[in-house]
Amino acid sequence: MGTYSDFYRRSVDDAENFWAEQARLIDWQTPPQQILDASRPPFARWFVGGTTNLCHNAVDRHLAERSDQAALICVSTETGQERSYSFRELHAEVQRTAASLLALGAKRGDRVLIYMPMIAEATFAMLACARIGAVHCVVFGGFASGSLASRIEDAAPTVVVSADAGSRGGKVMAYKPLLDEAIRLSKHKPAAVLLADRGLAPMELVPGRDHLMRDLAAQHRDTVVPCVWLESTEISYTIYTSGTTGKPKGVQRDTGGYAVALAASIPHIFGGRAGETFFCTSDIGWVVGHSYIVYGPLIAGMATLLYEGLPTQGLDRQPDGGIWWRLVEKYKVSVMFSAPTAVRVLKKQDPALLRKYDLSSLRALFLAGEPLDEPTGRWIAEGLGVPVIDNYWQTESGWPIISIANGVETQASKFGSPGLPLYGWRVKILHESTGEELTEPGQKGVVAIEGPTPPGFMQTVWRDDVRFVDTYWKSIPDRMVYSTFDWGIRDADGYFYILGRTDDVINVAGHRLGTREIEEVISGHPKVAEVAVVGVADALKGQVAVAFAVTRDGQGSAALEGDIMKRVADQLGALARPARVHFVGALPKTRSGKLLRRAIQAVCEGRDPGDLTTIDDPTSLRKIQQLIAA
Ligand code: ATP
Ligand code: MG
Repeated sequence: MGTYSDFYRRSVDDAENFWAEQARLIDWQTPPQQILDASRPPFARWFVGGTTNLCHNAVDRHLAERSDQAALICVSTETGQERSYSFRELHAEVQRTAASLLALGAKRGDRVLIYMPMIAEATFAMLACARIGAVHCVVFGGFASGSLASRIEDAAPTVVVSADAGSRGGKVMAYKPLLDEAIRLSKHKPAAVLLADRGLAPMELVPGRDHLMRDLAAQHRDTVVPCVWLESTEISYTIYTSGTTGKPKGVQRDTGGYAVALAASIPHIFGGRAGETFFCTSDIGWVVGHSYIVYGPLIAGMATLLYEGLPTQGLDRQPDGGIWWRLVEKYKVSVMFSAPTAVRVLKKQDPALLRKYDLSSLRALFLAGEPLDEPTGRWIAEGLGVPVIDNYWQTESGWPIISIANGVETQASKFGSPGLPLYGWRVKILHESTGEELTEPGQKGVVAIEGPTPPGFMQTVWRDDVRFVDTYWKSIPDRMVYSTFDWGIRDADGYFYILGRTDDVINVAGHRLGTREIEEVISGHPKVAEVAVVGVADALKGQVAVAFAVTRDGQGSAALEGDIMKRVADQLGALARPARVHFVGALPKTRSGKLLRRAIQAVCEGRDPGDLTTIDDPTSLRKIQQLIAA
């Protein structure tokens, strides 16, 4: 296939031919008439005139060759259940759900909001929407009614699909009362609610509105629901960003471009092959779950493992820090995808668990979502004995932007760097106020993407083209480029390093420091499991760094604080030395596991922490508040 650099060059210099070739990885009902329409920048319309269907590509087209192969493997360490669906069974279940949605009035282009735990029915619902051309809006299960209500209002769904309850760490969380309250709060009222009943929590059904999935599925046991052929640029779904930096943004995705982007990414980036098993530990409520639990692996003919539960609990619901590796052995997982935040949880477990199982099927572990600090990356790579590949991307991008294209050419990865720009992405480092391109190694700037953007990238902000252009494409002066709002550098070999968010930069006495650089040094301390660094206003220096650390043994001391400060000063210089290191039990994070630095910073400065709808554990922030006040 040639070298990766040839592959990359073609993808940007001869983009239309490159992507026309990738488009052959999926089935089209009508082939595209135009590969790319970039006549109205920054909007890029891919595979115009082509018609296809995501569900057909994920399910139906595999029936001929692999109908008895596992397609969906559901494992819940919350309920102790384990069940596998072949492509044939998945096809049947998806049609039943599709028939149920049609019976409840959902039509092509209508929105269907999915608010569900990590169960098979959630996947059936997503694929069923794709099948009938309805737009799914998956909302992370367990969001409180306020967040859910605003999403119901924004999406204006015809049908909501939900369940009686989710479960986390053995604790049942009833969803139905939250949903009822959200519908009451919302100005938009869905016509119908379709519910999976797991028997975890009692549910009251609203007559005429609420229906049980199993009743409708029984009525439509053998109803045939053909795939609706959609124009490539028709909407497949909307999804919200994590809300790490403020109010979440509603990202709108197309159909054909997304299908092609995912179909290409499985072999080229992940090195996955049909017939193998892909295990992504994310949640279907996030983009990683959409792309790499549901659509990507299935489009590629792989089995996908849907996991409900903590990484530290076994099927017998007893503590088991080795459960994921047990599953890798059992289901012969070849590609695994997780997040640094999960690895940090595992880091507190016995490392011998990483070697207890036969991991010979596993070729690589991919991690994304947050910077992967070198100590964490090394720990897991050495423990597992497989390559650990960082990949950098966003809800907006739909698939990785920077990583190592493992399937094209095995390139060396470097700890601390997600790697090189992936094919299709024109990634630049730009000066944030002049917009000038920074080409010298080591120059810090904003990571930006020049259009036209590749297939799979967001089409627009849901119902708001103006917000799309203004938010993303106008932040860098004098040029129309997409800002990732991340700060980065490139080294002499072209490898990128992500230094944190553009609004997470600390300015100490006129010197700009990335929070990430300081965090990296602190997390290298053998006693530290996790750390967050924020810039706090300081009368003298403008800003100073303040660190919040979680130690491995849960203990902090003045001596350790001094030790950490010295370590930072030695490695990065006195300016970077944190003014304080606070020891805490947990760090405030979004539900997707990202550090909420802006909220910590606001609390440190005595400001209102702002939009906290996506916070995971509010007590972690309250404890910080108390620490600061003390
Ligand atoms: P919001 O946009 O609402 O503030 P968010 O940016 O956290 O939330 P996501 O789209 O889930 O929402 O996250 C994308 C961001 O996560 C990236 O812009 C980057 O800051 C961070 N990120 C993801 N992967 C990596 C990685 N491998 N290395 C460093 N940072 C990463
Ligand atoms: Mg973002």
